Amino acid sequence: MPDLDLVVKEIAEEMRQRPDRGEVATYIPELARADANAFGLAVIDADGNVALGGDAETPFSIQSISKVFTLTLALGKAGDLLWQRVGREPSGSAFNSIVQLEYERGIPRNPFINAGAIAVTDLILSGHQPREALGEILRFLQFLADDTTIMIDEQVAASERATGFRNAALANYMKAYGVLSNPVEFTLGVYFHHCAIAMSCRQLAMAGRFLAHQGRNPSTGRSVVSPERARRINAVMLTCGHYDGSGEFAYRVGLPGKSGVGGGILAIAPGKASIAVWSPGLDAAGNSHLGRIALEALTKRLGWSIFGA
Ligand code: GLU
Repeated sequence: MPDLDLVVKEIAEEMRQRPDRGEVATYIPELARADANAFGLAVIDADGNVALGGDAETPFSIQSISKVFTLTLALGKAGDLLWQRVGREPSGSAFNSIVQLEYERGIPRNPFINAGAIAVTDLILSGHQPREALGEILRFLQFLADDTTIMIDEQVAASERATGFRNAALANYMKAYGVLSNPVEFTLGVYFHHCAIAMSCRQLAMAGRFLAHQGRNPSTGRSVVSPERARRINAVMLTCGHYDGSGEFAYRVGLPGKSGVGGGILAIAPGKASIAVWSPGLDAAGNSHLGRIALEALTKRLGWSIFGA
């Protein structure tokens, strides 16, 4: 078995030298300012060994990666009833598609496209004030990562709200079909804020550990979800975690993963490790360009693809 720390450092150095870096998201100024040369990688194995490469300690906007954790919370609240509000099929269309939502009568395809994530957020919000729901999401991440310094970037959240016309359209559409229970502006407020949580690769890899180890944090022994639920969340990540590039990610990397437009990816090697990578430049499908390439190199060198060597 190759030395994990060495492999991680090698990959970080290879990524640092590559000229192709993808395109940084520009839909809000806060993301457009991200440094296209940044690259971070963190891998935490089953024994709790932490291997870090590049800018693994630099916080970035986790954006849609937050949807893995809101899905986990919503399943905890509603159990399988959640699947009456949102499907679990890959969408094959853009992450913010309105056409698909109309075809499917307001029921979003999966919890990771924007419409689905907004429906999931609405479920978490029910029975609470927006700031309580948001506090619950943030505290869940702080608990998982064992790090109370994790914060929301308020400037990112404000920009998301100021420019979020398409998300508002999706939310209003679902409201018209009775899929959302709360006032649209409350649900959107919580959604924009959880997308604006900032974390480093190390913090994110820590937070994902329960998914790699049958629902338990192997260091503390604490159970977060049942093994069956962890397996199912991983299945949705594998099939739906990379927008319209989910097939390509499974083909090249072979791990469940979730990406965000901030350039982060959380990837899970079941039984082996929780992995977070960050590089702000995106490919055409909106996934981190170097993040995907780095994960492909990692799974290849360590033999970690769930589909075998
Ligand atoms: N806050 C972003 C949006 O809703 C999330 C985008 C993403 O990471 O997919 O448009």
